[in-house]
Amino acid sequence: MTAGEEMHALVERLYPLCRSITGDGVRRTLEIVSEYLPLETFEVPTGTEVFDWTVPQEWNIRDAYIADASGRRVVDFRESNLHVVGYSTPVDARMTLEQLRPHLHTLPEQPSLVPYRTSYYSPSWGFCLAQEALDRLPDGEYDVRIDSTVDDGQLTYAEHVVPGQVTDEVIVSCHTCHPSLANDNLAGIAVAAFLARELKNPWYTYRFLFMPGTIGAITWLSRNAERIDKVKHGLVLACAGDSGQLTYKKSRRGDAEIDRVLQYVLRGRTHEVVEFSPYGYDERQFCSPGFNLGVGSLSRTPYARYPEYHTSGDNPAFVLPEAMEDTLAVCRDAFAVLDRNRRYLNLSPYGEPQLGKRGLYDSLGGRSDAKQAQLAMLWVLNLADGEHSLLDVAERSGLPFDSVAGAAHALHRAELIKE
Ligand SMILES: [Zn+2]
Repeated sequence: MTAGEEMHALVERLYPLCRSITGDGVRRTLEIVSEYLPLETFEVPTGTEVFDWTVPQEWNIRDAYIADASGRRVVDFRESNLHVVGYSTPVDARMTLEQLRPHLHTLPEQPSLVPYRTSYYSPSWGFCLAQEALDRLPDGEYDVRIDSTVDDGQLTYAEHVVPGQVTDEVIVSCHTCHPSLANDNLAGIAVAAFLARELKNPWYTYRFLFMPGTIGAITWLSRNAERIDKVKHGLVLACAGDSGQLTYKKSRRGDAEIDRVLQYVLRGRTHEVVEFSPYGYDERQFCSPGFNLGVGSLSRTPYARYPEYHTSGDNPAFVLPEAMEDTLAVCRDAFAVLDRNRRYLNLSPYGEPQLGKRGLYDSLGGRSDAKQAQLAMLWVLNLADGEHSLLDVAERSGLPFDSVAGAAHALHRAELIKE
């Protein structure tokens, strides 16, 4: 199996689980992810104050349906968890269709699709169904049942840390709070898990965060506020698997190193770069003014810009193995640049140092890219003034970052430059 196929298989496994911002669906999701990647799971009790928010009660659901007079389920949670509004309070009643209508949500413009709806912070209940299905329901009485609980419990999130050579951190976050939606949630989880598995002995410490959107990120920030200055860079992954082109949304700063790295890596691919806005995924929290972290967001087609968004159309068939593999490749390339992007100081800045006597020409003997490597050394030496990073060198010289980083490595070993 290719990595793309493996990620897709993970999406398919996670798809049926009923996730929300809390509850057993999230726990089960993290358990499955932990088969791929060791996770440390955290449980934060209901009522915990996290900045301006409070960790809510925990929601769990076992079953839900609307059944007609013959007992046939006309709307059935067992078929799709999207049929129940997230955080629905329990119900057990017999109602006429007219009484039921205010609790039914459809998409009249997309009559064959079931919408995704939640009501986290105002207690209510409801069902979501295709407009076509609603139109077929005859008047009459229905048994309405939602077997759910909303009780004091926990908010669950998880981390996986890849220790680096330095304690400065890169965070990669994805949300875990959407139920049966494949692109908006699961593709990001799969790409993050596979990315984390690939990182071996990186420069930075990489912290992968699997947590519910908004309240999860706010909870994490609140619990990590003391050490947040360790976080130097970050990327929020979402909508990582549809067939659309890649989209990078810049951090609030707009010129953070992660912004430059992603734009550099995306050159040569069809892509779009968009400016920061305080809407979208958890970049909203990481880039809130009190933190203003260098965190951007990578997606394919952004939220709300594809018709399947937040509907039953966002199913595993909507997510392509090749698309997830492509997103993974961009993350891999970006972190390979970020990890080696440093500023150096030329220790022999008066005229060019003599490379030949240090074996720096010999060491290149026979390599077909020797000329490029020599040029890269000259560029690094020239721009090693403590101001320019290796990414600056790559951009200004037009040379591949790999060659520039290789030249810096050789020059550093020859003690011609220092960090
Ligand atoms: Zn969403």
